[in-house]
Amino acid sequence: MKTVDLIVPCYNEEEGLEHFVNETNKVIDSLPDYKFRYILVNDGSRDKTYLIMKKLAQKFDSVKYISFSRNFGKEAAMYAGLKNSTADYVVVMDADLQHPPAIFPEMLKAVDEEGYDCCATRRDEREGESFFRGAFSKLFFMLQNKMTDVKMPYGAMDYRMMTRQMVDSIMELSEVQRFSKGIFSWVGFDTKWISFKTVDRELGTTKWKFSSLFRYAIDGITCFSVAPLRFTAFMGGIIFAVSLIYILITLIQTLFLGITTPGYVTTLCAVLFLGGITEMSIGILGEYIGRIYMETKDRPIYIAKHTNLDNDNKKKTDEKEVG
Ligand code: UDP
Ligand code: MG
Repeated sequence: MKTVDLIVPCYNEEEGLEHFVNETNKVIDSLPDYKFRYILVNDGSRDKTYLIMKKLAQKFDSVKYISFSRNFGKEAAMYAGLKNSTADYVVVMDADLQHPPAIFPEMLKAVDEEGYDCCATRRDEREGESFFRGAFSKLFFMLQNKMTDVKMPYGAMDYRMMTRQMVDSIMELSEVQRFSKGIFSWVGFDTKWISFKTVDRELGTTKWKFSSLFRYAIDGITCFSVAPLRFTAFMGGIIFAVSLIYILITLIQTLFLGITTPGYVTTLCAVLFLGGITEMSIGILGEYIGRIYMETKDRPIYIAKHTNLDNDNKKKTDEKEVG
């Protein structure tokens, strides 16, 4: 019997977690040819999420959990789940039922019968989303596809089912600052995209703020591309060329017409413009240097405090982790 691991990052999901497991169980029960297992990752929730996980684990044998020592972020939670997964197929999904388990059969068909390595989802409709946020995410996908080697369709989501081979490849990317959407497409493999209309969160509230979305977008580009650095070099070149022309014109003017009016406006513009460009370039450089700095520290991506998984494979593969 083929096995499927469901990786579910949970942060303050006390309201919806039990409902999520009950709803998902209904779909699982309709697929008796596969053996499912949950890997619930408690990402340092400050509510009763962990207690609910323990309760669910007592009730269902299929429920496994990992609980972090603090909030490490969704990326770290997904990483922890993938790392501890052993199944033939692995699903990454949210705990709020915005990623409907009802499409498991379709996903299984893609990876098990149609020969795809991955069945990923994208959303078409962005209902209930502000105009500003929608425009921002359009811009993000456009820049991401233009500036980096990793291509992803508009609205690509983390919700997906992957084969063991693909998950193993993902685990070979050991970077600390993880941007999973990019990593998923960076490793390649054949992906089938299916889309569905998103539904509103049933219970609990979204954990995202606009500022974290902005950070996310910056990460998406800088983790996979040095295009911004190249852009600053390109700007430098253009400014240099324009300056040369301007110097020449001024020289000729001075030689043939003598020194005329003092160039107050020109000086002011040049100083402000160059100042701005320099600031921006330093900022971009700083982004990359900061990343190098964080990466060289080589800190563990997460620290687990409790788990009911048998940790054999964990101990072998990662000495950095505190079990
Ligand atoms: N999540 C997490 N750690 C965090 C923030 C969120 O594990 O620091 C989980 C959260 O519990 C949920 C998923 O990531 O299962 C997506 O979060 P949310 O629904 O708030 O995001 P949205 O659907 O609004 O993008
Ligand atoms: Mg959600």
